Amino acid sequence: MSVTNQEREVKVYGNYINGEWVNSATGQVSESTNPAKPSEIVGIVQKSSVEEVNEAFTAANEAHKSWSRLAGPARGDYLLKVSNILEERLDDIALTMTKEMGKTYVEAKGEAARGVAILRYYAGEGMRSTGDIIPSSDSSALMFTTRASLGVVGVITPWNFPIAIPIWKIAPALVYGNTVVLKPANETSVTAAKIIECFDEAKLPKGVINLVTGSGAVIGDAMLANPYIKAVTFTGSNTVGKHIGRQAFERGIKYQLEMGGKNPVIVAEDADLDLAVEATINGGLKSTGQKCTATSRVIVHESVYEEFKQKLMSETAKITVGNGEDSSTWMGPCASASQLETVLSYIEIGQQEGAVLLQGGERVEGEGYFVTPAIFENVTPDMRIAREEIFGPVLCLMKVSSMEEAVELANDSDFGLSASIFTTNIQKMLTFINEMDVGLVRINAESAGVELQAPFGGMKQSSSHSREQGRAAIEFFTSIKTVFVK
Ligand code: NDP
Repeated sequence: MSVTNQEREVKVYGNYINGEWVNSATGQVSESTNPAKPSEIVGIVQKSSVEEVNEAFTAANEAHKSWSRLAGPARGDYLLKVSNILEERLDDIALTMTKEMGKTYVEAKGEAARGVAILRYYAGEGMRSTGDIIPSSDSSALMFTTRASLGVVGVITPWNFPIAIPIWKIAPALVYGNTVVLKPANETSVTAAKIIECFDEAKLPKGVINLVTGSGAVIGDAMLANPYIKAVTFTGSNTVGKHIGRQAFERGIKYQLEMGGKNPVIVAEDADLDLAVEATINGGLKSTGQKCTATSRVIVHESVYEEFKQKLMSETAKITVGNGEDSSTWMGPCASASQLETVLSYIEIGQQEGAVLLQGGERVEGEGYFVTPAIFENVTPDMRIAREEIFGPVLCLMKVSSMEEAVELANDSDFGLSASIFTTNIQKMLTFINEMDVGLVRINAESAGVELQAPFGGMKQSSSHSREQGRAAIEFFTSIKTVFVK
């Protein structure tokens, strides 16, 4: 269905329940708008009710009976089909993502290609071993493990990686025999619907994957209350993550929470400074700093501090801020008005706390939610800008006089997702690997980014300590059965 809007056709996307696109019985919809040009409506999505969540879970529960019995390679074949369809539509879906959340088109295409690769990785998982033979003390017995699917998995995703995150949760869930109900972030529900169109076209059996859009609080609570939910996987803020974790614990279901970060980079006295500057900018400012793995705290040895600072300021000043659809843009807008407000409020807070704003942090005049990349110095560990996740293009410089002080400062955070060091000294690398309380340790590489075949996740408040992606995903999406045959 489509309606005329601003002399342009704007498509209305339904929920996807039991293999059908259906509008919400509430009759309510919401508009998804372009953060670079908020007057542009990218699409219209359903504001769903509890009833629709329940319908989706009923369909997924019914579908699980046959989907879980399907052979792993056959489930993998479906994912392969989805990957080919997504690849064919890559440019269109990437453009939708750029319009919906502001990421540059180059980054959006990279993310969509990542989605294709993740689907192919998990398509292959359908043919890989899921158990071990364990020697029994009885020589006439056979003892082994096998993996059982969990049932219906609730998938709740944020807006910052609207293709990659849903796919890195959905693909392993499905290949290991579960069925799915997806609730994407409201801001990026059109992108989510376009992903689900790929699954629809691949003709997955009815009910295997379902999409319900609408308010997080309404849909989320209904998902967690549904009798058929057997697990929930979530990425987003710590506040919502903890709320979901508490409900899941009460229900006795499995949960996986990937939440915030306050990721440090250490620049040692022996670092390649050009490399460190480039990686700090890429890690901290790509996607407008809206990554849970984004570089936020930049801890620099005093002997190279001034040189590093000058290089960082001069390179950051060259960043072009604008509409992500424009090929000359390096950094797009914040994803929403509220995200922009959050960033601007932290710019204020930082200055009130006594940090020095070296450059940037200015609202760019005009329609979109643009802000220039900000660099603070004289940031102390007790300041809110050093402790809280800003989720925007803000770098906090901190000066140290030793490696010990640097590591201590880097670990002085409630979060523990990713940490980088720039050094040419092997002892410093080893100290860093051993001492950092984080899930992702990066040496001479930006804090953001991990390859899809490697485990992803954090320590401390960053995660519920399970890992996503790669083979690690099997631990969350299956349950081990130990079998003894005599
Ligand atoms: P939220 O945690 O609010 O949203 C993430 C997802 O949870 C969305 O789908 C949201 O739906 C849903 N949700 C919201 N409320 C509930 C609820 N009560 N029960 C179940 N699901 C719910 O993150 P935001 O997108 O608002 O971002 C806010 C902050 O979170 C950011 O500033 C950043 O600090 C952090 N964040 C971290 C991410 C990470 O990767 N670590 C990713 C995104 C955000 P809806 O969109 O409809 O509200």
